[in-house]
Amino acid sequence: MSHGSGIAIPISDSQLPISETVMLDTITTTWTDAWGQALTLAGCCRCNGVFLLPTERSLTPCPYCGQDSLEVMDTAVDRPVYTQPPELTLPFTASQPVLHAQITQFVQKNWLAPADLTPANLIGRLQPLYLPLWLVDAAVQAQWQADVGYNYQVVSHREQFQNGQWRTQEVRETRVRWEPRLGTLRRRYDNQMAPALEEQQQLEQMLGAYQLQGKRPYHPHDLRQAAAHLPNRPPADAWPEAREGLKTAAMEECRQAAAADYIREFRWAADFRDQNWTQLLLPLYTTFYQDDDNQVRLVYLHGQTGRLHGQRRASMQKARRWAMMIGGTAVVIFVLSLLLAVGGYLQKALLPWAAAALVMALLVGVTAVLPLLIAWRVNRESGVVSLAS
Ligand SMILES: [Zn+2]
Repeated sequence: MSHGSGIAIPISDSQLPISETVMLDTITTTWTDAWGQALTLAGCCRCNGVFLLPTERSLTPCPYCGQDSLEVMDTAVDRPVYTQPPELTLPFTASQPVLHAQITQFVQKNWLAPADLTPANLIGRLQPLYLPLWLVDAAVQAQWQADVGYNYQVVSHREQFQNGQWRTQEVRETRVRWEPRLGTLRRRYDNQMAPALEEQQQLEQMLGAYQLQGKRPYHPHDLRQAAAHLPNRPPADAWPEAREGLKTAAMEECRQAAAADYIREFRWAADFRDQNWTQLLLPLYTTFYQDDDNQVRLVYLHGQTGRLHGQRRASMQKARRWAMMIGGTAVVIFVLSLLLAVGGYLQKALLPWAAAALVMALLVGVTAVLPLLIAWRVNRESGVVSLAS
């Protein structure tokens, strides 16, 4: 015991050496620190998306599915399936004029649009969002076998009786000769794409593919304004797709090696080594409008090409207003026809006018249901619009 007396001497905080105080503060680290800047972890209860957002960015609505609001999560308690920061980013390159033109085109051509669906609203609410994608590198060693096909031409002659004499016509036909092949393959593949999100395929169908040439190392600045969707498929989960992609790439190379035109029945026994998984962020813009039922409708724009995908809902309120206006006009014409018919008792010449007005009233009355029908059809077909840039 250093204090021979054995009496504990209380030490107040202010007496602690400065270095120890600093150490106590830095203990509160979290896994989001690896992303390079302060970020909010938030999740969506509808799409189950988990996001890292710039701290000042609004949590309403969900930037991915349009749910009313995201819920803040605790980085100390909640640990998403994959939390590592990305290695690469594909920057936003779609220009503002292109995005604005796409939105304007989306909003136009819609006379039954909900009041909230205006170009200014959609442009004002544009938000950048990064989606994850895996790039897989692997060394492949495999034994393969397949049928390879070669085109060849068959020349035959056809005899035809024309204008009283026989004529010979040459006919060329392309056929495919199939031959079995087997071999070994030893090769390294880089940047094989694999989905880091369950919805990767639907997204690509909606917005088209991404050009990966412009990718560059991730920098914390990338998330100054943009949110990042965390992967919901970790590498182990995405491996079957990556392996399938590697197989397709290998199959194509075997076809080339055999100098063949086609390849089929490709089978291989492959061994994959030195796997390296890289997380790449893909740029996406989302914006939204509210329909008549105050439901948020999300509109997506490809961050490179500006291609747009969204639901163009029709406003039932507007359709009803139009229907009432047209119906009201029909009623006025009908009343007029009645007045003319009454007048027709006194002055026979008015009767044809009364009949004409009645027909008019009927015709206009029937058209009153049109706006309702159109709006109903647009909403029933969900009004999905895809605009290539
Ligand atoms: Zn969501």
